[in-house]
Amino acid sequence: MNWPRVSAGDKFGRLTVICRKPSPDNGSRWLCHCDCGNEIITRASTLKSGGTKSCGCLRREKTTRYNKSMNFKHGMCFEPIYAVWFGMLARCRNPNSTAYKYYGARGITVCDRWLKFENFYADMAPRPEGLTLDRINNDGNYEPGNCRWTDWKTQRANQRNPHGNRRKKAYQSGASS
Ligand SMILES: [Zn+2]
Repeated sequence: MNWPRVSAGDKFGRLTVICRKPSPDNGSRWLCHCDCGNEIITRASTLKSGGTKSCGCLRREKTTRYNKSMNFKHGMCFEPIYAVWFGMLARCRNPNSTAYKYYGARGITVCDRWLKFENFYADMAPRPEGLTLDRINNDGNYEPGNCRWTDWKTQRANQRNPHGNRRKKAYQSGASS
């Protein structure tokens, strides 16, 4: 049997090999120190093959970056409808999503029917090019009766309206007193 050889001090991505750990399958496990401060025990073969490059922090960071880029893309032209659906679920159901605080945390949910992409597609496809998914009632949920495709400008105006009105009223009452 030819075990892939690694030795203490070898570096694989973020992992630095510390020492060999005895294990039932002939001692091919290694204790590694990750740049982020964690330690993991892994096989020499996965280190050698590049399958393991961190304690898992690398993948977590990639996921965060992906979520951020999804958020950034919101409202841009070439967003496929699947990404719209995925983003909607993330905003309402994933507390790690950067926009969760504006949606899920405010109690905005996705209706049961739309938890399946097929149903969302059946109700909302095709997405007119350049338009984004908008909720007609800004405090309402993502569900067939409350959603439409609008351009980004209309959507922003819809979101700003309550504030705009309040400010206007305050101004008017201030002016009349
Ligand atoms: Zn790490």
